[in-house]
Amino acid sequence: CMQSPPSVALRHVFFAERQAARVAGLARDTTLRSIKRVAMIGAGTMGGGIAMNFASRGIPVHMVDVDDAAIERGLAVVRGNYMRGVKKGRMTEAQLESLMQLFVPTTDYEDLADVDLVIEAVYENMTIKKEIFRRLDRVCKAGAILASNTSYLDLDEIAKVTSRPRDVVGMHFFSPANIMRLLEVVRGAATAPEVMATVMKLARQIGKIGVVSGVCYGFIGNRMLEGYIREAGLMLLEGARPEQIDRVLYEFGMPMGPIAMGDLAGMDIGARIREERRANGTFPADERFGLVADKLVAMGRCGQKTGAGVYLYKKGSRTPVTDPEVQTLIQNEAARLGMSQRAISDEEVLTRCVYPLINEGARILEEGIAQRAGDIDVVWINGYGFPAYRGGPMHYADSVGLKEVYDRVCSYRDTLGNEFGYWEPAPLLERLAGEGGKFAEF
Ligand code: NAD
Repeated sequence: CMQSPPSVALRHVFFAERQAARVAGLARDTTLRSIKRVAMIGAGTMGGGIAMNFASRGIPVHMVDVDDAAIERGLAVVRGNYMRGVKKGRMTEAQLESLMQLFVPTTDYEDLADVDLVIEAVYENMTIKKEIFRRLDRVCKAGAILASNTSYLDLDEIAKVTSRPRDVVGMHFFSPANIMRLLEVVRGAATAPEVMATVMKLARQIGKIGVVSGVCYGFIGNRMLEGYIREAGLMLLEGARPEQIDRVLYEFGMPMGPIAMGDLAGMDIGARIREERRANGTFPADERFGLVADKLVAMGRCGQKTGAGVYLYKKGSRTPVTDPEVQTLIQNEAARLGMSQRAISDEEVLTRCVYPLINEGARILEEGIAQRAGDIDVVWINGYGFPAYRGGPMHYADSVGLKEVYDRVCSYRDTLGNEFGYWEPAPLLERLAGEGGKFAEF
């Protein structure tokens, strides 16, 4: 048992989760700021969930949104979430009511003059976020920490609109934010050491695992996700069935496959991001990338929330049902693009989804976006459900052998084409494969 790969992997995860708390360049005696009052800007899906983490630990949270109705909607969702706890006997109704007292609704920024930490979770839009940070800069007291929950945007650009970029940090929670353990703590170019130390400690206090990420598009987790999702979509056009792709990743140990995940998260979010990136020239000029999802979203099929995405969902059910119409759509699109469909082996499905994670992880490690390979593993296990018994993508790569991963990446580069650089091996992967090294030793 002790020498089995799952045992080795789980011990790696145990230590990696503890090591993630160590932040490079922080002195042990870094002064911490005290966080007694928090404010949320945006009471939507994320805002409500994030706020619950603080209220559940007795920390009052000001809830700010555009109007009273938006705040009420957000607080109704929070109440509903706590109510589930009451129904399960985890708390009494009286406890629920006293928790709800900790949420202070307001649309007036002047009420934030006294808070120690503000977390912004409004729409993923740079213009709106900058406007909010300018306002926060005007009203918040000196020493308040100003955090953004942005998933992709450049934190340094947000920080620059304030007179205090040292106090600006990313706090990237994962959905549902009251449940998921991961918190990516994004360290901006100017973020002060005491802000990093305070937020990492706060993460522990609210039951999260904080992992430090540098600033880049999508930070650690979502940046890696791109290749995983891209390949799943490409394989649909090349002839793999959605059920096959999902089954293979499920059998590998993911809680669900990438296609079912898209349906759960809502494919409209990804479609909107692709549209924006196509417009600003930061998306590969590859018609195939995201094509199936974009077509389905245009038909109003966004996933579970609309009762149909790649799969169909019966009213009130989360069980995916195969839809022959989608298969026809995929075949027609493949034919239109002149792609001939073929049988794809389970092994190809697995490596084409998982190896892009490893390759991008290698870049993230080499660029110093992640402090260590174990941090990347912690992100993927706690934010995306990568099986802990495989140790996370980087540990998994080490266990497969980097030479084997590198050779396969090169073979996909040569057989699938490299017009868009999808299978360009990361320099670090190439080097370590050549040296017989491991990510864990980097
Ligand atoms: P959402 O649409 O559910 O909520 C956004 C809220 O912000 C709404 O209630 C809206 O009324 C409010 N808002 C808009 N403009 C505002 C303003 N000027 N002032 C105050 N409130 C304003 O969105 P969400 O899914 O909660 O996402 C919020 C942020 O969190 C985004 O940056 C997103 O990228 C990030 N995020 C989302 C997820 C996710 O899975 N949904 C995960 C991690 C991070």
